[in-house]
Amino acid sequence: MNLKDEIRKLAELQELDSQIYELNREHDVTKPESLQKIKTDFQEKQSTLAKFETDLKNLQLKKKEREIELATKEDSLRKAQGQLYQLKTNKEYQAKLTEIGSLKADISVAEEEVLKTLEEIDVAKTKLDQEKAVVLEIENKYKLQEGKVNQEIKDIEVKLSSLNSKRDQLSREIDKTIAVKYEKLILSRNGLALAAVKNNNCSACHLALTHQKINEIKMYDNMVFCENCVRMLYLPEDIFQ
Ligand SMILES: [Zn+2]
Repeated sequence: MNLKDEIRKLAELQELDSQIYELNREHDVTKPESLQKIKTDFQEKQSTLAKFETDLKNLQLKKKEREIELATKEDSLRKAQGQLYQLKTNKEYQAKLTEIGSLKADISVAEEEVLKTLEEIDVAKTKLDQEKAVVLEIENKYKLQEGKVNQEIKDIEVKLSSLNSKRDQLSREIDKTIAVKYEKLILSRNGLALAAVKNNNCSACHLALTHQKINEIKMYDNMVFCENCVRMLYLPEDIFQ
């Protein structure tokens, strides 16, 4: 086994695995999160719409109550007016006139209340219609966006399946002992098992490597690991010269 050749294959494998790791993250986290965000925005708007609908219903109930109140007072007025000519004494007549006057004033207030509520209903209806338009627009956007993200997820799956078959083929060509170590690191080190040495530092965790460590790498007797992040180390200038 030529260790340099193995490392060259590992570096290719790592390149594929980095792409796979990134695509998996998009597939499992980024895309579902963006779908969830669009959904939440839409649901928030829907709950505002529901609130406006309740407001309108409450106003319509209030209007009904006020109309009943008005009808009751109008009924009392009619009754009082009917009684007026059956009264015998002037005192009773005057008292009834006062009652009628007071009922008329009440009716005028009640009529105003009904009108005020009608105006409030108009305002609430306008608000509701506007909100309905907003929700419809957001719903359309949501559906478009959802379709788009779902398509992106499918595209990622296609890419992943092609990358995964490439990586499986490549990993079979790598020395078993090294491949096993590499696979363990890929799983435990966020998809990065093999780190290039750049300016005498581990490019993954930025640990400054000793000359002795660099020399160990250059001997190509054994795989050398970073003392800090425990990743496999390699010198790109040696491998890809
Ligand atoms: Zn390191």
